Amino acid sequence: MRMILLGPPGAGKGTQAANLSMALKVPHISTGDIFRANIKEGTPLGVLAKSFIDAGKLVPDDVTIGIVELRLAQEDCKNGFIMDGFPRTIVQAEMFEKMLAKQHTGVKLVANIFVPDELIIKRMSGRRMCTCGRTYHIENNLPKVEGICDACGKPLYIRDDDREETVIQRLKTYDEQTSPLVEYYRREGLLKDFDGTKPIQVTTQEILDEMK
Ligand SMILES: [Zn+2]
Repeated sequence: MRMILLGPPGAGKGTQAANLSMALKVPHISTGDIFRANIKEGTPLGVLAKSFIDAGKLVPDDVTIGIVELRLAQEDCKNGFIMDGFPRTIVQAEMFEKMLAKQHTGVKLVANIFVPDELIIKRMSGRRMCTCGRTYHIENNLPKVEGICDACGKPLYIRDDDREETVIQRLKTYDEQTSPLVEYYRREGLLKDFDGTKPIQVTTQEILDEMK
């Protein structure tokens, strides 16, 4: 059960990954999370990665693949994984393929979760947060009093990441980075599109059916 999840920010990839991980009993591997863990634990690769990040540079592909390889060598990955946030480029995808080939295995499915940009913008820019941790949405999860948290009475705010102009920029960056990768996996015959506008459980089931 080796799967890669692709999808723009706001497509519900995190929730899908959690559902799929539970159903398939394989770990959800977020490369962002492993990077942070390696840096926090001060592993040699973590120290190396941090030196690039601190210098404002992109972490080189061989460092990234090294970190992924270490993670996949752990016991819980023996039956597979759900990869999220990696690969990001065709070079990384090719390195990943070689790494798996050494273990006589490969990726079974690249699930591309598709949601139209307009809908993502609507979903994300409508979010309202409270410092207590509650979240609201101006269309389907309104507080009783506009702009005020039901639980603690504090004023709600919009996260910088959720501002419309930021969301538009993030979608543009995602598209530029990921489009070549989508085409690469499509050519390889591994990619399948899934409609991320359907209810979450429906999309999860469609992906699971494809894995059979
Ligand atoms: Zn609150």
